[in-house]
Amino acid sequence: DELSNLTVAVRVRPMNSKELSHVGASMIVRVQKNELLIRSVPVGAISVGTDHLFQYDHVFWSCDKTGLNYASQEDVFSSLGRPLLANAFQGYNACLFAYGQTGSGKSYSMMGPENDADSSENAGIIPRFCRQLFLQIAELSSSHIANVEVSYFEIYNEKIHDLLAPENGKPRKARPALKVREHPVWGPYVVNLSVHVVQTYEELRSWLLRGNKNRATAATVMNEKSSRSHSIFSIELSLSEKNKEDKSSRRSKVSLVDLAGSERLGSSYNCEEKMKQGVSINKSLLTLGKVISALAEQRKGVQFVPYRESVLTWLLRESLGGNSHTTMLATISPSNAHSDETLSTLRYACQARSIVNRARVNEDPND
Ligand code: ADP
Ligand code: MG
Repeated sequence: DELSNLTVAVRVRPMNSKELSHVGASMIVRVQKNELLIRSVPVGAISVGTDHLFQYDHVFWSCDKTGLNYASQEDVFSSLGRPLLANAFQGYNACLFAYGQTGSGKSYSMMGPENDADSSENAGIIPRFCRQLFLQIAELSSSHIANVEVSYFEIYNEKIHDLLAPENGKPRKARPALKVREHPVWGPYVVNLSVHVVQTYEELRSWLLRGNKNRATAATVMNEKSSRSHSIFSIELSLSEKNKEDKSSRRSKVSLVDLAGSERLGSSYNCEEKMKQGVSINKSLLTLGKVISALAEQRKGVQFVPYRESVLTWLLRESLGGNSHTTMLATISPSNAHSDETLSTLRYACQARSIVNRARVNEDPND
């Protein structure tokens, strides 16, 4: 089976206590293999709803631990993270995005519960990826020399802030935002972004924890900033063979991205319309959707990909197109309380995959 350049997955988190407690609470999402069925019921309507059926590369049902088809953190990592890791060792770039409304499980999937980047069974994709990276480097150590560098930054209002900047005495918020420049060979990069060489998983983990802490601090200061900012954790791996005349090395960059909450895009997803109305939207989030669908269209001969329209897509250009592998993990709640947001997330993810979906109206209101 050939590895396609784009993988789209959806993960359904458990209902939380708030969702369970509201009057008329119900679960409107069902999953079978890689298909997801959602019944959206307009507010006020009793039992007439519309069923929407979506297909993705993977659908992870993480609602009840006792269920047969329950997808654990390890399951999600195995399906999405391991292929990217294998690719990285082959020298390919990759990006993995978590997309969804605030509270839908992006950070849980990427990092783990409450950003606890540990090695426990609930650790998310990023710590698992990094741990596995060093295990595989150790296996290759007799024949290869590896170099690993990490960086961690966030984009808020199209401005870049280093989450691992050295403590220079200045309060974080007083530091100027970093700029993007384009290197003639290596492409777009963040000027003065700190980059850290790490030799072990433990070393890497301490940077991760530090970045998470900085992100959390900024969030409280800036009033829920984290729901509006994108965080990008990047790992650059270079591998060269020992005892070889040719000193060239294989390089690859993997970016693991916890995107801003998608709720600001609103329930009717239409970029052009929103731009015209001047509604406050997240430019990077909108552009990412456009870039991913343009890349999918490229196979059919359409050329233009609007990377330069946002900071996020411009910076990730080298990891999005060409031979890179892109994975989108859309996270949703199964609750009827969020049916509009959930539908818009499912559509965004679907647009990325450009698959025809069937919507059908329920004939039997008592069903
Ligand atoms: P987001 O980053 O999208 O805003 P979070 O990842 O912070 O959302 O998740 C919101 C809450 O739901 C957190 O308390 C988190 O621990 C919980 N949660 C999310 N996904 C899962 C899951 N798959 N299993 C158990 N709890 C989850
Ligand atoms: Mg989050």
